[in-house]
Amino acid sequence: MLNIVLFGPPGAGKGTQAVNVIEKYKLMHLSTGDMLRAAKAAGTELGKRVAAIMDAGNLVSDEIVIALIEERLQQNPDAAGFIFDGFPRTIPQAEALDALLNANGNPINICVSMAVDEEELVTRLLKRAEDQGRADDTREVIQNRIKEYTNKTLPVASYYGKQGKLANINGIGSVEEIFERISAVLDSAK
Ligand code: AMP
Repeated sequence: MLNIVLFGPPGAGKGTQAVNVIEKYKLMHLSTGDMLRAAKAAGTELGKRVAAIMDAGNLVSDEIVIALIEERLQQNPDAAGFIFDGFPRTIPQAEALDALLNANGNPINICVSMAVDEEELVTRLLKRAEDQGRADDTREVIQNRIKEYTNKTLPVASYYGKQGKLANINGIGSVEEIFERISAVLDSAK
């Protein structure tokens, strides 16, 4: 089993690379951002609870996202492995994920952290706003998402670093170049 955390700031290209990774390594993609957006679009109770928080670029509660991940893990006992994209985003989320995976004897193998400088992130996110029209891609909200990342999410990289499970890669380049860097890391982590 191969369990990977794809880590990086908003706009680092995690979603784009996750698509390539799941195809090559036959993993299941678990993106809490996608799950929450789907709940919001469907107008479920959960969607209504998180809509304003997401639109402001704040993190939703640990309890909510941990429950979403736990549910998906339980629903897919036969998966060849998981790629966690946009999760964990806080230390308590990382601890909860470890507890869930260790209980099954299939811990995280590696956290691949994609480094992209802030100026490039803002440019990419503003471009994505034009292409996809996401509600959380205005300049002000982008700044807040980056702030949330710096304050609450960045420590998660050190969390995996302390476990000897952190691989840093350069997140600037073509989609193919970056995928090659990720593949090299995953091939040596298998
Ligand atoms: P993303 O598409 O991963 O950038 O997520 C979009 C938004 O969903 C974030 O700005 C948060 O409001 C929320 N979200 C997604 N994943 C998480 C998470 N692991 N913890 C807290 N909030 C999250």
